[in-house]
Amino acid sequence: VVNREVDMAVMLGVDIGGTKMAVAPVDEAGRIVGVPLVRPSRTESTEHFLDGLVQVVRDALAASAAARLDVVGVGLGCAGMVDWTRGIVVASPHLPLHDTPVRSRVATAIGLPTTLDNDANVAALAETRVGAAKGLRHVVMLTLGTGVGGGLVLGGRVYRGATGAAAELGHMRVASDGEPCNCGSRGCLEAYASGRALERVARRLVQPPAGSGAGEDRREEGYASGLASLDALGRLTGEAVGVLALQGDAAAGDAVREVAEWLGVGVTSLANVFNPEMIVVGGGLVTLGDLLLGPARAALARCGLSPNREVARVEPAALGNDAGLVGAALVAWERQLGV
Ligand SMILES: [Zn+2]
Repeated sequence: VVNREVDMAVMLGVDIGGTKMAVAPVDEAGRIVGVPLVRPSRTESTEHFLDGLVQVVRDALAASAAARLDVVGVGLGCAGMVDWTRGIVVASPHLPLHDTPVRSRVATAIGLPTTLDNDANVAALAETRVGAAKGLRHVVMLTLGTGVGGGLVLGGRVYRGATGAAAELGHMRVASDGEPCNCGSRGCLEAYASGRALERVARRLVQPPAGSGAGEDRREEGYASGLASLDALGRLTGEAVGVLALQGDAAAGDAVREVAEWLGVGVTSLANVFNPEMIVVGGGLVTLGDLLLGPARAALARCGLSPNREVARVEPAALGNDAGLVGAALVAWERQLGV
C-alpha cells in the first residue's frame, strides 16, 4: 500500500480490441500505475458491447479509488475507423459498431471527460512518448498484424487529418489493380505487407501456377514441403509461416522476404513523404525481427531520397501490448493539458 499526501492523478487508458478490452490507470508520464483489468469484448450486439465497456470502466474506477488514485478522465483507443471530432466509431472489423457514439456513451455513464481515438494513432503516440521513438517529434508507426494499421506523430502531435480518419497507412495503394484488400479496394499495402499477405504468398509457393517455369528450376526438391505440411493440417497462417521462417525453412523465408520487400516499398514512400526521424514497426509480424526489417531497411537505403533515407531509422516497437492502454491514456492526457 502506497501512502500519499494527495491522491495521484491518473487517466484510465482503455484498449478496445476485437476480442478483449483492457483498462488501467496511467499517470501523466505514461506509466501504468495499477493492475490492468481485462475482459472479453462482448460482440453479440452494440448494446452488449457498450454495456460491457461501461462496466469495465466502472470497475476500474472503483479499483482506482481504493488505491487512492484520482481518476481525471478516460481515454479510449478502439480498433477500427474512428471519427475523432464526433467521438464515433464509424466501423470496426470485429466489433458490432457502426456510426456508434462510443465516446459520449462512456462520458455520460462515467461523468468524466473522455476521448476516443483509433488504436493505431494511440499506439503511435505511446511509442513516441515512452517507447521506441521516445523523445522524437516526427514518427510514423506501422502495425503489422492480420492487417496493417498506421499512425502519424508530426511535429510532436498526432496527425488526424480533416475528420480524424488520416494515417490509414495500410491502405496506401502500392499497386494499380493489384491484390484485393480487406477494405474492398485493390493494391493496398495491407494486401502485400500483412499477416494475411504472408499467408497468401506462402500458398502460392505451395502451389505454383502451372507453367510458371523459370523460377522453379533453382528450387530444390522438397523446397516448399514445410509449407505444404502446414497446409495439409489446415494451419497455413501468416503466424505459422513466420515461425517456420524463424526456424530456417527456405520457402517460408522466401515468403517473409517477399512481404518484407513490400514493407520496404511502404517504408520508402513514407520516409519520402514525411521525412520522419523514425518509422516504428509493431504488431505480430515484428516478432520476425531482422528477417522482416532487414529487407525493408535495405529497400529504404536503395530507393529512398537523400536525406530522408539516412534520417529515417526503421525500428521495432518497444511497448508491445501496452501501447494501446498507455497511448489511449496519453491521448486523453494531452487533450486535458491542451498539448
Ligand atoms: Zn485497403
